Amino acid sequence: MHNRESYDAVIEREEMTEMELNQKLMKYIRTVEPYVPGEQPQTKVIKLNTNENPYPPAPGVKQAMKEVDTDKLRLYPDPAAETLVSVLAEAHQVGKDQIFVGVGSDDVLAMCFLTFFNSDKQILFPDITYSFYKVWAELYRIPYECPKLDSDFRIVKEDYDRENGGIIFPNPNAPTAIYEDVSFVEEILAHNRDVIVIVDEAYIDFAGKSAVELIDRYDNLIVVQTFSKSRSMAGMRIGYAISNPALIRYLNDVKYSFNSYTINQLSLVCGVAAVKDRAYFEETTSHIIETREWAKQKLAQLGFEFPDAKANFIFAKHPKYDAGELFEALKKEQIYVRHWNSERISQYLRITVGTREEMEKLFTVLEKICS
Ligand SMILES: *Cc1c(COP(=O)(O)O)cnc(C)c1O
Repeated sequence: MHNRESYDAVIEREEMTEMELNQKLMKYIRTVEPYVPGEQPQTKVIKLNTNENPYPPAPGVKQAMKEVDTDKLRLYPDPAAETLVSVLAEAHQVGKDQIFVGVGSDDVLAMCFLTFFNSDKQILFPDITYSFYKVWAELYRIPYECPKLDSDFRIVKEDYDRENGGIIFPNPNAPTAIYEDVSFVEEILAHNRDVIVIVDEAYIDFAGKSAVELIDRYDNLIVVQTFSKSRSMAGMRIGYAISNPALIRYLNDVKYSFNSYTINQLSLVCGVAAVKDRAYFEETTSHIIETREWAKQKLAQLGFEFPDAKANFIFAKHPKYDAGELFEALKKEQIYVRHWNSERISQYLRITVGTREEMEKLFTVLEKICS
């Protein structure tokens, strides 16, 4: 471009062309309404809005990162992620052929939708749940139906006793934080032996028993877990599925038809180091549970109401204060929580459990507003 005038002229022409093209191309384009992640402010705030872990990853992760041989980055990583799969298999007492790893559980879940929800029948997931399920269903053109949680925000298991093309729900559910025990999950499985049931256990380590123990008895079960919450590694992007070898093989077939090298070399070594440090994991997880139980008492004293939280977050509303206003008031004080302007939950805030100190700052602000 030689001068300003001709540059503007070119830009204007390009914009016009794009508009004309858009109309003609629309029928070829896969359009979708995307998932909206929580804000990731780049300034220092008290961040209680995306359920990250307030503690750093296990010390071994830092060490592993230091020891990485950058010369090796010229090579592709191991497509089977063998080292990571092995430690996970050992940790969960299953075979190596029963683990599938991906780039965060979002990647694993997206692959599961593509692989297992492949009929014309409607898949089922709750009306209030992880909002990504709807996005994947729309993206892949999978029909779906969303049975309503009851008035206490519990999943009604009888709603899943009907013809369907597959089922997915988180346990604990998000954003309600309600955990249902393994017998509840088993009832849903028992009524749906001919379709695949995915249990998204992103928060299971803060809650109770995992449905992994049902895997040998139900060949239609897939359990998905993540390193993003209890392992303090949301930034590394590692998630995994546990199931029987046959379903894991179908999942791998789809993965190898999409992107063979999902887990990069850094994720491999850091993931292995994180799984190996069981003691650190148990310690940080129990800190968060302790802080959560204390925070529940504090919230109740301030008049908040919430379902019994078994995840690393609490889903709370105040009968006297508007959730949108509370959200803004907290944000002004540099405290970020999550709020959705959607039906049934617009008066609720989802508050991630941070460190004790972070939660004390939250309560200092809430006490000023709510007393
Ligand atoms: C956080 C979360 C995930 C995704 O976690 P990844 O960071 O992609 O592993 C999946 N499901 C639920 C319910 C979650 O809350």
